[in-house]
Amino acid sequence: MTFQNLNLILPILKAVQDEGYTTPTPIQAQSIPIILSGKDLLGCAQTGTGKTAAFAMPILQLLNENKIIGKAKKVRGLIVTPTRELAVQIGESFEAYGRHLRISHTVIFGGVNQNPQIGTLKNGVDLIIATPGRLLDLMNQGYINLKDVEIFVLDEADRMLDMGFIHDIKKLLAVLPRKRQSLFFSATMPPEIVKLSQNILHQPAQVTVTPNSSTVEIIRQSVYMVEKNHKIQLLLDLLNNPKIKTALIFTRTKHGADKVVKFLQKHHITAAAIHGNKAQNARQNALNSFKAQTTRILVATDIASRGIDVENLEYVFNYEIPNIPETYVHRIGRTGRAGANGTAISFCDSEEKPFLKDIEKLIGKKIPVIDDHVFPLPEEQAVIRKEVIKHPVNHAEKKVATLAKKVHSQQPKKKKWFSRSKNL
Ligand code: AMP
Repeated sequence: MTFQNLNLILPILKAVQDEGYTTPTPIQAQSIPIILSGKDLLGCAQTGTGKTAAFAMPILQLLNENKIIGKAKKVRGLIVTPTRELAVQIGESFEAYGRHLRISHTVIFGGVNQNPQIGTLKNGVDLIIATPGRLLDLMNQGYINLKDVEIFVLDEADRMLDMGFIHDIKKLLAVLPRKRQSLFFSATMPPEIVKLSQNILHQPAQVTVTPNSSTVEIIRQSVYMVEKNHKIQLLLDLLNNPKIKTALIFTRTKHGADKVVKFLQKHHITAAAIHGNKAQNARQNALNSFKAQTTRILVATDIASRGIDVENLEYVFNYEIPNIPETYVHRIGRTGRAGANGTAISFCDSEEKPFLKDIEKLIGKKIPVIDDHVFPLPEEQAVIRKEVIKHPVNHAEKKVATLAKKVHSQQPKKKKWFSRSKNL
């Protein structure tokens, strides 16, 4: 399968070539013809699968086909996505795939001054990529009119619901034209998502891609069993490895992310945090300098990290094991993208062991445990000691083994009370 087989127009094929893509990913191969045919689509896929191009390319083509020349521009395409970073990234994809076309777009999200966004909207755009809150806000202020929308995309629907956007989505659906093409993407399809999709889509074609196994398979994964209070030292120890040029570290909480950043900075490692409490500009700046490799470490919580796409990111750390196994797959999917190398290192303390089990169940394999590190868990330590005594591999271990045997031989023998009692 090639991009030429997908009936894409030349300016888009040229952009594909500029991007260096040779083969369409499975979601692209399946979705592009469906979208070009004008059908609704229910896509079960997550970021990292090439999903953005799967909808961006045919949307650009469709909007280009029915271009209204000479009149003031109307919003004909709308993409709604849960996070600001995703909106920016989708905007960049439209920019890239549409660079040889004249379809204008703008990205609308909250947390920043609205005036520049209003300025662009006043000039007229063909396409809006937005997060729900600011979109509704600008609609209410009369700066956005959606009555001419021909194509509507709801991206990362499950995440939208998790983030409490359901009411915003309902408000949006109420003002969108009934006659439109709708595309609905979600990484998971629990019943409430299926129900929402039924409210939005009309006789949709369905496409499911399972990136999990393929993404996960090419990523080298390992887990360090380590006590909670030793994690930070272990992290520092591992980051001393100059092979790790940049790394994305996931923490469970915003506070935790800030703490890791502070610690690393204290030890002269450039680091920045990206989470929901940071102003949008700070988040974008942190992401940009990480992408440019001026910041070596980016520490993120899940809420801010969804969809982060950093080219050639090789290392992802799970500072804490996520309690939702799918989150692990999302997180480590930030590395090993588009065929690049990927290494995912997780820290697991005693309390997190059940979460690790769930993850291994989901991905269908055991994650190799690295136990020869400086801060093993007490129970692992005991196992290691036993192993060293039984099978010493180097001089230091032989010394430990000899000493252990000596100590053992000097222990008072247990009295065999049972033999006496037998004789009674
Ligand atoms: P997405 O799932 O849209 O976040 O895309 C994941 C990454 O894959 C992005 O960095 C894209 O630039 C890249 N990508 C998308 N389509 C292709 C393709 N056909 N070949 C190679 N890389 C691609």
